[in-house]
Amino acid sequence: MQQTYFMIKPEIVAAGDQKVGEILAMVNRAGFRITALQMRQLDRATVEDFYGEHRGKGFFADLCGYIAGGPVVAVRLERADAVAKLRELIGATDPAKAAIGTVRDLYGASLQNNAVHASANPGDAARELGIIFG
Ligand code: ADP
Ligand code: MG
Repeated sequence: MQQTYFMIKPEIVAAGDQKVGEILAMVNRAGFRITALQMRQLDRATVEDFYGEHRGKGFFADLCGYIAGGPVVAVRLERADAVAKLRELIGATDPAKAAIGTVRDLYGASLQNNAVHASANPGDAARELGIIFG
C-alpha cells in the first residue's frame, strides 16, 4: 500500500457540496481508501511552503493567493501504486489537455483553477502529507 496527498481546490469547495461529493466518489470508485480528511483554509506561509518548487515562477504569487483564498478539502489516500494512479485519475495540469473523463477534464476551469491537486511522486507525497497533516 502507498499513501498520497489529494486536495480539492478552493473554487470547487466554494461552488458547494455537490462537486466535492462527486469528486470524492470518483476517487472512491477508483479504489482509493480515505485515511484522513479535513476541510480547512491554509495560511499563506503554509501554501508557499507546499508549492515551494514553484517559487520564482511568474504564476507563484497568484497560485498561492488562490489556494490560500478559501477552504480546501485535504485528503490522505491509500491504495497500491497510489501516487501514479491518482495522477492518472486527475489528468493533465491544464484541463484543456486532460484526458476525457479525468477529474480535471470534468471539473477544471482553467490552467490555474484546475479543481484538484495530487502529489507528483512518492517523495512529494510524504512531504505534502507532513505539511498538511503533520
Ligand atoms: P500539477 O498540479 O499538475 O502538479 P504543477 O505542479 O506544474 O502542476 O503546478 C501546480 C499548480 O500551479 C497547478 O495545478 C495549477 O493550479 C498552477 N499552475 C501551473 N502552471 C501554471 C501556469 N502556467 N499558469 C497559472 N497557473 C499554473
Ligand atoms: Mg505539481
